[in-house]
Amino acid sequence: MALFIWVTKHMISSAAYEGLVSILLHEKFRVEDVIKSIRSIKRFRNGLPLLTIKSHNVEISSKDTPSTSKESKEAYFFSVTDHIKRILSNPKLKNDLYFGEGIESDSKSEFWHGELWQRSPLFGAECCHHNNVIYYPGEFIRYVRYDTESQPRIGQIYAIVKDDNDRLLIKICSTFFYTELPRTYARSRQDSRQLWLTENLEIIELSQIINKVSVWLYDTQQPLSYEFIIKEILYYHNARLLLRDISLRHHHSTLSALSRPDFHCRRIKIFCDLYFDDFGTYRNVYHSLGGLYLQFGNMKLKSRQKLRNHFLVGFVPFGGKFEDAIKLFIQDIQHLERGFLMTIDNQQVWISGGLGITTADLPQGNDLAGTLRHNATHGCRTCKASRDDLTDISFDISKHGRYHHLTDIEFENIQCLPNRSQKHALASSLGLRLIPNPLDQLIRDRHISTPQDIFHCFAGKANRLLIATFGLLTNSGEDTFTRIWKFFEVPSCWSRRQNPITHLASYFMSDILRLTMIIPFILRRCLTSDLLKREALMRIKERMDLRSHNYVINRIIKCWVQFSLTARMVFSRTLTNENYETIQKMLELECKMLLEIFPEQFSGLPNLHINRHIVAHAKTYGTAFNTSVSIKEMVHRIHKGVVPHTNKKNVEFDLIKRDNTLQTLRYLLDGGQDIRFEHMIIGQGIQNIVNDVALRPLLDNWYITSSLLSKTYDDDDVENTNIVTCIPEIMDINVRSKWNKHQRDQENFTVGKHLNEYFFNELANAYAEYYNDRGAMINSKVEFYNNISYVVKDDDGFVDVQLSVGDVVDVFEEGETEESYAIIKGIFTHERSRKLHAFVIFDWFEKIGENTLLKCPKYRLQASEETRWNRIFPISLIDHNSRVHFVHDCNGDCNYDRHNLSNRYYLKNMYYYLAV
Ligand SMILES: [Zn+2]
Ligand SMILES: [Zn+2]
Repeated sequence: MALFIWVTKHMISSAAYEGLVSILLHEKFRVEDVIKSIRSIKRFRNGLPLLTIKSHNVEISSKDTPSTSKESKEAYFFSVTDHIKRILSNPKLKNDLYFGEGIESDSKSEFWHGELWQRSPLFGAECCHHNNVIYYPGEFIRYVRYDTESQPRIGQIYAIVKDDNDRLLIKICSTFFYTELPRTYARSRQDSRQLWLTENLEIIELSQIINKVSVWLYDTQQPLSYEFIIKEILYYHNARLLLRDISLRHHHSTLSALSRPDFHCRRIKIFCDLYFDDFGTYRNVYHSLGGLYLQFGNMKLKSRQKLRNHFLVGFVPFGGKFEDAIKLFIQDIQHLERGFLMTIDNQQVWISGGLGITTADLPQGNDLAGTLRHNATHGCRTCKASRDDLTDISFDISKHGRYHHLTDIEFENIQCLPNRSQKHALASSLGLRLIPNPLDQLIRDRHISTPQDIFHCFAGKANRLLIATFGLLTNSGEDTFTRIWKFFEVPSCWSRRQNPITHLASYFMSDILRLTMIIPFILRRCLTSDLLKREALMRIKERMDLRSHNYVINRIIKCWVQFSLTARMVFSRTLTNENYETIQKMLELECKMLLEIFPEQFSGLPNLHINRHIVAHAKTYGTAFNTSVSIKEMVHRIHKGVVPHTNKKNVEFDLIKRDNTLQTLRYLLDGGQDIRFEHMIIGQGIQNIVNDVALRPLLDNWYITSSLLSKTYDDDDVENTNIVTCIPEIMDINVRSKWNKHQRDQENFTVGKHLNEYFFNELANAYAEYYNDRGAMINSKVEFYNNISYVVKDDDGFVDVQLSVGDVVDVFEEGETEESYAIIKGIFTHERSRKLHAFVIFDWFEKIGENTLLKCPKYRLQASEETRWNRIFPISLIDHNSRVHFVHDCNGDCNYDRHNLSNRYYLKNMYYYLAV
């Protein structure tokens, strides 16, 4: 009863209580050891090998803070070098990091698959050797093409890369001779000393190199002697070949005087990824706190997706300026650019690297690039589109692009002007700030390494499209939409949200993106012309010159289909070169359709303009997803959530202290060593906790220790039995929500508690095939459940899998070329050889065609009596969570809340993906 009062008074969560119970019931727990004061417990922190928190004074502008506060304040920071040392010493992390040349891969998912890594000597190859000659990126060479021509080609070394098989290759930007120019240009340019740089990239082997060639790029210093001049770039725009000035190109970044150790040691190049977010800390925001977070691009995508692999750098205090607060970080990165020795595991390692990418919300992102914000006349950080050009598809972004070296000159011109008002006038006509961002002291290209974020971009566009679509509906249209939405069969892992028509403002960006994955289906189920406002309907019909009302409906759905398909494609975690082209076309089509149907809402929209730059960003970083801030924003939200628990006087210091404790605990939990002898005991004590099964509730569901996925079941109905399957890589199997008699009877799998004869034979087959156990089967008793969860161990660690009856899973069977899909109809356990084994029962989908309006493949669910395939499988067949979504292909017999399931047709949801 005392515990009940305590739990109620302090609102102790069930997870917290479970943790306490696991300590109290532990065999080694003794009441006399209990520490009486919470202060003494908190003092344990002092024994941890914490990172040093640095601080420096920053000015506080008085207009942003209450008048009583001081004019300067301490800003607290971690050193980047300390973070690097931590991750390189962490046994769980250090083997997961990649340090090496950029890789030219068919399927791109990591930062090292992107052009920035490939091209920059900070991260990738600095040079290569061939026949005793050293070749550097940016140099011109003569080379042969093996396949077609006999005449040698001239090209610029774009990057030195490796392929997936560790073979060194050269990526060449090829040139044209005047004889190869289109005829309209060739006539006036008959000059055998001139070449034209193209945007065609080709990959050659070292053996194809003939020699170096001296080429004068006309906008650079004239060399003493040269063989060729390049004055223009030949490029494609709107399917036409055009010429632009040679100065309109992105330069290769060079390292000035790279210092290196004079002895041989392992070299490691660190790719830093900085994220900056401003956050309001109280509900009525007049204070905001800026957070700076660091990630390492050397980690694989899978690790970067984990919350705990986002490292806090520091906070920009209330009222403080980014420019002041960032100083220590800049010094750290400059130190990294020069390189230094570090001792890791008793070995000397040469560490170097740099800032590879900076991300932020849209407005702050423009600050980081030194450009004005979106609402300015030239408010794009990547190109010089004016407000009228923003959504003009014919606008030539290569010709009117922003190029780092040209922006440098523009900044100088601004500074040269005599007074402030003239400076302001020039800066605003160029869309620039008065002075460059302090990050420009680092080696980086301000326009390339500040990509626009697809997460905000697509959520922003979706929000606008939703409002525009809802705006077309009459009152009864809204009611119908809401009813269909409410009963829509969403994936089981989604939580229910409030009515989107009335409560869209309360949606998180990830909720808005989820909504876009089902809207095309909802519209197709309910949209008819009498649900649209008369004048809106007529307006669209006339503007687009459509023959009937039905065409209007059709176009609206098609527009949504295009939007949702494009979003899914842009968020792909792996991309090929062909995908880049497909995405480009999809983005153009999306833009065109949005402008056709909703011109008032979309023309001139900066978010839609970003479409023009997404593919370039994707090529720079491998995928567009790699630049998405969705997870980074969650990290920021966690810190925000801690604010109410601090003393609110020195929020920044409390937050950074807490993060320090958490990351240090995490380091020790991961098995990191503490160099100071006396604390070995703490490290050992922590290892004992990790390895103690009885104490697992302490570490469960904590972002510091486990993956993103949190367990969502009510803990009341957990069956704690020892369940196994045919391979040891699947463990910790738990089943939940046992079926009652009514549920069992509905499905006909069993007679009483025993499998029916058909399934009993199938089960014997499953044992034979997957367990290689052909022994006689006697026991046919089984228990059915609604849910199952387990942990799968793979090369990269552990994956938590949760499956429920009704989920659709993709199964890739050996010997098959295409994935097959099946719906889980039942989950059961069966006892054999005194162990419980877990199985699933499938109904299989069979592909039969495509729905051309929705652009989704159509499937038919095989009826149990006609199936040719096995239906019982051990759970070892499924090593991941459900990642596909199927939707009923309703006909007239379906009701909004009840589907006619004798109609066995379904559509595979092609708009479904994991945005976060
Ligand atoms: Zn632009
Ligand atoms: Zn239906």
